[in-house]
Amino acid sequence: MSPLSDTLIKKDADLDPDLQWALSNYVMDSGRLLVIELDQHGDIRDTNVTFRAQLAAFRHVRGEPLSRFLVSEQDEPPRIESGLSFRTPIPYLLKGANSGELYLFHAYPLRQGILLIGELTNVAQADIDIIERMGHLAIEMSRLVRDLRKTNHELARANELNRRLAHTDPLTGIANRRYFMERLRKSIAHAQARQLELSVLMIDMDHFKRVNDRFGHAGGDAALVAFAQLLAAQIRAGDLPARLGGEEFAVYMPDTGLEAAAESAERLRARAADLRPIDTSHQITASFGVTVLTKGDSAESFLKRADALLYQAKAEGRNRVVVGT
Ligand code: GH3
Ligand code: MG
Ligand code: MG
Repeated sequence: MSPLSDTLIKKDADLDPDLQWALSNYVMDSGRLLVIELDQHGDIRDTNVTFRAQLAAFRHVRGEPLSRFLVSEQDEPPRIESGLSFRTPIPYLLKGANSGELYLFHAYPLRQGILLIGELTNVAQADIDIIERMGHLAIEMSRLVRDLRKTNHELARANELNRRLAHTDPLTGIANRRYFMERLRKSIAHAQARQLELSVLMIDMDHFKRVNDRFGHAGGDAALVAFAQLLAAQIRAGDLPARLGGEEFAVYMPDTGLEAAAESAERLRARAADLRPIDTSHQITASFGVTVLTKGDSAESFLKRADALLYQAKAEGRNRVVVGT
């Protein structure tokens, strides 16, 4: 780095305030440069003295359109693009509206508006064409960058939506089997590494065939949705309820021992029996198998044990919770 930039730019990359003042003072009042700040409509927000001296007979010009003072070479008002996030300045050749004198400006996109910095120039016609082409290319490029950003943003949102859909059971909106297994495996590894408790509830709704036979498939679906909503509403944050398929559900509960899990299952069983999702006279019930993770468990052995306990609950008469290790 040169000694000058060492002086100008401190360790934290901030300009020394006194130097900053000196530089901006010189730039603003040196008599050469025209500095114009435009709002997003292309109206003047502020200018330096040089602009007012050369183009506005020292008038204050706040709020007036730039085209009153400067017009583009093609006798159109300057095309000012706002909202471009591209930081490379765009060259503009503008002509004094009254004097006809030529100015070369650079436009810097601001968060809201445009900063134009430029000065009188006397370039040849060939150079004018090149500068204008460069301006058009720069604008085109910043549009492409902006469109690309927008497309990327939309793509990221679509990906996120897809990811969520891939994790979700479409009927009930709770997690599906795939996501449940993915998360369960991670929770098992976590619990085993830290010797934390982890419990699981395996749930199957009772005599569900009869629900469909009596109320039709739509009636059965309504019961499934109501039961899933109950699961989602009753469990603690950190627990994951899922529909594994058909009328089979599961919940895993991190940091939860067998006794607490059994209490949760019993509460869910009682609440389910109070639901009347289809018909005020029709009770829906479910059976539960509850177990806690052991040291040597895999996801498969863990769920298999819960499943066996669930089928014990079925065998013992349904609408009940069977707990085991
Ligand atoms: P059990 O108490 O022994 O579990 O009896 P069950 O009738 O619930 O058990 P079974 O596995 O014999 O029948 C499950 C029924 O669940 C069969 C199927 O028609 C119904 N079912 C599975 N998936 C859906 C679904 O998405 N919607 C509806 N409405 N019914 C479903
Ligand atoms: Mg069933
Ligand atoms: Mg079943």
